[in-house]
This record gives sequence, structure tokens and C-alpha cells, in this order.
Amino acid sequence: MKNISEVLEGVKTIGIGGHVRPDGDCVGSCMALYLYIRTYFPDVDVSVYLDHPKPIFGHIDHIDDIKTEVEEGREFDLFITCDVSARDRLAVAGDAFDHAAKTVCIDHHVSNPGFADVNYIRGEVSSCCEVLYGLLDPDKVNRPIATAVYTGMIHDTGVFQYSSTSPDTMRIAGELMKQEIPFSKIIDESFYEKTYLQLQVMGRVLAESILLQNGKCTVGYLRRRDMEFYGVEGSDLDGIVSQLRLTRGVEVAIFIYETETQHFKVSLRSNGKVDVSKVAVFFGGGGHTRAAGCDLEGSMYDVINNLTAEIEKQFCEEEA
Ligand code: 5GP
Ligand code: MN
Repeated sequence: MKNISEVLEGVKTIGIGGHVRPDGDCVGSCMALYLYIRTYFPDVDVSVYLDHPKPIFGHIDHIDDIKTEVEEGREFDLFITCDVSARDRLAVAGDAFDHAAKTVCIDHHVSNPGFADVNYIRGEVSSCCEVLYGLLDPDKVNRPIATAVYTGMIHDTGVFQYSSTSPDTMRIAGELMKQEIPFSKIIDESFYEKTYLQLQVMGRVLAESILLQNGKCTVGYLRRRDMEFYGVEGSDLDGIVSQLRLTRGVEVAIFIYETETQHFKVSLRSNGKVDVSKVAVFFGGGGHTRAAGCDLEGSMYDVINNLTAEIEKQFCEEEA
């Protein structure tokens, strides 16, 4: 596939969907594709399905068009997933995907097995938004579409800072800026800004974090009862693992929080020596070399021990 128009030929109904707990890249890519089809293929009936996106993405045009449930019995001519690394990560619209006449997967996760009829997966590219941009007609990327693409790019590159950021990333960001998008506002309001409560919780996690493996691994954690005490959800905890990763000397940062009693959501970040996607895949999750995640059950100490043992294997391989 060279251009998205190739798969849109003769198609009358389209569903678009992203992954569970949608982040900036997921919301940005789904919305950019939605806006593009809506604007330039007005005869097509297009719907976008996502879990409730956070208010920080309110600057994206038509964000309220997002549907959180698929209408009963809906069968699409085409279903397109954006930023979804595996079929079971698709949120809300799993059945609609399975029943669609044709499916397309646009993604950038190295662990993606290619679960659709047409797969456009570029594991070396920093964000799904950047992958998607390559499939759009650049002259048709207007201000609202550019805003959505830019939002995804800054989120998955940590504002053009992670090693996945390439000259192409910067060139595309430059093209998007020509549409006079409010880039400072997008970066501050969707990426850096936190509520007072979110910062308090981050402070607590950092204060209680532990250093393991001769200072090469740091672990932050939050128990259910503490989350209840502060009144925070998993979505309030973004940015904590990135902050942990910045500890001097640390190669791998782990952040875990309890979703239900003895059920943990795990976020992993690496500074390059350890491939955390391998660690996540080992435990049934996935992601990228430097950012990955999984779900684990058991006591918190078991979860930490199991994760660090798997990380230790890679440190040993490196030394061998
Ligand atoms: P985060 O730590 O920000 O939740 O996720 C980092 C990366 O790992 C994202 O690209 C995300 O899609 C992936 N990831 C996180 N949790 C899981 C999981 O449970 N399964 C899979 N396959 N990928 C995950
Ligand atoms: Mn992504």
C-alpha cells in the first residue's frame, strides 16, 4: 500500500479503531484518518471507535464524534486499526473488526504479527501518526488533520526526544507546522501539563521507588488502596515511568499499579541496552524496544521479582 486511497476504492462504510487505554498516538492517528476520510471522501460513511479518550485530547477537531460502542449488527465494508499491536489489543470494536468484509492494520509496533488482511506496519517509525502521514496525500493534510498527526507524533517521541525520532520525523513535523497548528499549546496541554493531584501522586511514587540491580533498574509502584486514597485512575499515572527512566545510571524503569487486587498493569522503559519489548512479550504483553507493557498477577513482590529476573537475563547476555 502506498496511499490510503488504494484501500478506499468502492468502499461505502468504514470503521476505525485503536487500542485499549488510547494514548496520544492512538487518538491522534485514529482521528487524523477519520478527519481525512470525512473531508475528502464525503460519500463514505465513516465512524471512529475508541475507549473514552482523555480530556487532554479535546483540542482535536470532531473529537466528540468518537463512539465508545459499536451499533448492534454493524458490518463494515472496511475496518482500519491504527496503533493496535495485536488483535486482542483492539478496544471496543473487536466484533466489528472480525465481521468486516476487509481489514487494514496501520501500525509501528515491532511485536505486531500483522493480524489484518492488509498490513502496513513500520516498526522503525516513531509513531503510528508518522506511518499514517506517509499514506496520506500531503496536500490534503489541512490544519485539523495536521493537529491530530502532530499530537500523536509528540506523544510517541516524547516531544521529539526518544531515539526513534528520525530526520523524517522532523521533516514531517515541519510540514505540519506550515498548517499553522498551535504547536506550543498542543505540547503543553496534552503532554506536559498535569493536575495538582497527578503531580502529588507522581511525587509519592518517586519518593517510594526502589533501585535494584546495582542501580541499573528502578521500580515505582502504586497499590490499589493508595490509588483509592488519592482518587486516581491508571490514566492519571502517565509520565511517571518516563520520569523514573531519567534516574542517572538506570537502564530500565518499571512502573506497576494495581488494577484489581493482585492484578498489575506494568509499564517498562529502557535507555537502550535492554529490549523491554522482549520482556513484555515474555509475559504476554508487547510494545517497542524502549517502551513496552504487560499485565501480571500475583503479589507485588512476585511481580517485581519476575520482571527483574527477566531483565537480568539480558544484562547477563550482554556481559557474556
Ligand atoms: P505504556 O507503558 O505507555 O502503557 O505502553 C508502552 C507501550 O507498550 C505502548 O506502545 C503500548 O502499546 C505497549 N503495551 C503496553 N501494555 C501492553 C500490553 O498489555 N500488551 C501489549 N501487546 N502491548 C502493551
Ligand atoms: Mn504508538
